Amino acid sequence: MTMVLGCIADDFTGATDLANNLVRSGMRVVQTIGVPTGALNVEVDAVVVALKSRTTPAAEAVAQSLVALRWLQAQGAQQIYFKYCSTFDSTPAGNIGPVTEALMDALGTDFTIATPAFPDNGRTVFKGYLFAGNVLLNESGMQNHPLTPMQDANLVRVMQAQTQRQVGLIDYTVVARGPQAIGERIAALRVEGVGVAIVDATSNDDLLRLGPALKGMPLVTAGSGVAIGLPANWGLVPSSTASQLPPAQGLRAIVSGSCSQATRRQVAHFKAQGGAALALDPLQLTGDTEPVVAKVMAWAQPLLSQGPVLVYSTAEPEAVKAIQARLGAATAGALVEHALAAVARALAQAGVQQLVVAGGETSGACVQALGITQLQIGPQIDPGVPWCHAHGDAGPLHLTLKSGNFGTEDFFTKAWAGLA
Ligand code: ADP
Repeated sequence: MTMVLGCIADDFTGATDLANNLVRSGMRVVQTIGVPTGALNVEVDAVVVALKSRTTPAAEAVAQSLVALRWLQAQGAQQIYFKYCSTFDSTPAGNIGPVTEALMDALGTDFTIATPAFPDNGRTVFKGYLFAGNVLLNESGMQNHPLTPMQDANLVRVMQAQTQRQVGLIDYTVVARGPQAIGERIAALRVEGVGVAIVDATSNDDLLRLGPALKGMPLVTAGSGVAIGLPANWGLVPSSTASQLPPAQGLRAIVSGSCSQATRRQVAHFKAQGGAALALDPLQLTGDTEPVVAKVMAWAQPLLSQGPVLVYSTAEPEAVKAIQARLGAATAGALVEHALAAVARALAQAGVQQLVVAGGETSGACVQALGITQLQIGPQIDPGVPWCHAHGDAGPLHLTLKSGNFGTEDFFTKAWAGLA
């Protein structure tokens, strides 16, 4: 393996988002689910280790991240990329600050950058303030997030609250002047004792100017946006070979446990186009997945040869609320995830080798049920959503893991063309 860039992502779909940006910029990338136990038998430029460390206690996030770091170092990673959410999801307790500091200590480095900027997705940083679309982060709805309420858009303050090191700013006037000016600013900040610098970026051009200034920096911390400027540091340029996957074969299916608005539209669109679809009623589910799998497969078997089938629990907010009131939100979620994951496994055993999964948590459950531990990242279907190739218990398959609000309305019908 010739890995040069080693990445640690604090959640699953965030890892895919980062991997997707690296592939689009010319790197061959594998994403692993958790830290692998041994070496990977693949030729890649970057590995993205997906952790579940965004909202765990900080000490646990630090411990997991350090295990990932050690594995990446053992595989020869020359630079480490700590990836977090483009809305900087964190609290004064962490986990972005504590993980960043622990990685800096372990790498023996006294300086890194931090920027969640991802202009393609409307996340921009200006004078240290993070915007989500047209509004400041703390006016974007993120101020009400149940786990990581973001009530301050000033990232220098937000980061300073969760780290011992001094936090500074590389502002847009410096970034506009290019890599050399950014390098000079970094040198000046280090002299001042700054350990972490928030970086302004309002466009992809800013990120491409930032990239060369990060060459040789042991640790980069960022959302997925900064990734577009890094592959060039190793002489890699965008090419279609980076996203090449083995040829697709087998039957097609979609499993959807997301109730997000975009997914609800995608389900409705697929049905309106005449797609074969079966809804699961959470109230009919018990912990035993056998009856539901038997019912789904009896329905699906005769249809699979005619085109993709859709199995979904996707429902409107009122319906979800009513079910949650009956079962409790956590129980309902777990029952549905468990059932859909068992369905995904049965579909794969029945010959499905092209699978779309909708929903972040649903994806996690399905990947686990399919026995998948690593994904090779292929061509993008929609921003943040690439096709992947993996080896599961039932054999090789192509799959795409779509987080709730990603993808256009016709995602379930158009996605297949990306494998043709
Ligand atoms: P998203 O990416 O849209 O947030 P997730 O899969 O992460 O989707 O989360 C959706 C959650 O809602 C899952 O835990 C899923 O099991 C649960 N769920 C799905 N359908 C229903 C439903 N009809 N009623 C209650 N909960 C549901």
